[in-house]
Amino acid sequence: MTLDDLKSMPSLEADFHVASHVQQTASPTIGGAANQDAPPSTASGRIRQRLRAAGVSFFANDNIAAHLGEGELEALEDEVTQQVRGLLKTLVIDVDNDHNTAETAERVARMYLHEVFKGRYHPQPKVASFPNVKELDEIYTVGPITVRSACSHHLVPILGHCWIGIQPGERVIGLSKFSRVADWVFSRPHIQEEAVIILADEIETLCKPLGLGIVLKAQHYCMKWRGVKEPQASMVNSVVRGSFRASASMKKEFFDLIRQQESLL
Ligand SMILES: [Zn+2]
Repeated sequence: MTLDDLKSMPSLEADFHVASHVQQTASPTIGGAANQDAPPSTASGRIRQRLRAAGVSFFANDNIAAHLGEGELEALEDEVTQQVRGLLKTLVIDVDNDHNTAETAERVARMYLHEVFKGRYHPQPKVASFPNVKELDEIYTVGPITVRSACSHHLVPILGHCWIGIQPGERVIGLSKFSRVADWVFSRPHIQEEAVIILADEIETLCKPLGLGIVLKAQHYCMKWRGVKEPQASMVNSVVRGSFRASASMKKEFFDLIRQQESLL
C-alpha cells in the first residue's frame, strides 16, 4: 500500500466519536470480541489495524513509514507521550512535582519516534544510484561506520561499528550513502544477527553488487549495564553474499581489507 492509497481511504478519524461511544456502551471486556468491528480510537490502533489488513509485519526491526497516513506520526507522538507518562507514574515517579521528570515523557516520545527508532517511522533517506559505466569490478570497502542501535529485548543501546565491502555490479552509489542507509537501518530495535541481514538486503536492493560483505562489531548495553555486567564483551558477526560467498579468495580479500582499515584506527 502506498501513501496515495492511504489518502484515498475513507477517513477513520471521523469515526472517532462512534468508537468512543461503542467503548462506553459495549461489554466491559476491553479489546474483546464485542469491540472487534469498532474503528480503533487511537493512532496506533488505526495503524496496527491497517498493517494487519495489508498482511504487513510490524516487528521491532521493520520500517512502517509507507503505512502512516497524513498527520499520524504527530498523533503517534502524542499517544506515546501519554503512555510514557503512564509508565513513569506506574514506576511511582512524581512527574507532577519532580522538575527533572516533568517533561521526560515528551522527550522520550520524541527520541523514540524521531531519533533512536527513526528507522521504523521515517522513510529511507534518498539514495541515488548510477550506472557503473566504467564497469568497475574491484572490491572496495567502507568503514568504520558508526552503529547506533538498541536491543529488541531490553531497549538499551547497542553501539559499535560496521564495515561494508562491495564488488560493484550494474549500479554504484556514493560512499557516504552507505552510512546513511546503515544509520536508517540501525535506528530500530534489533538483534545483531538480523540487523546485518536487513542492511545487506537494503544495499543489494540499492546497487545490486556482484559481491557484498558486511561485518558488524558492537557492544550490547544489556550485557554491560545489567544482566551479566560484562563491560568489555562485544559481538562480531558478518554476512557475505554473491562473489564473496562463492570465491574463497574474494572473501579473504574482503576480510583482509577490513583488517587494514581497522588497523588505521
Ligand atoms: Zn538486550
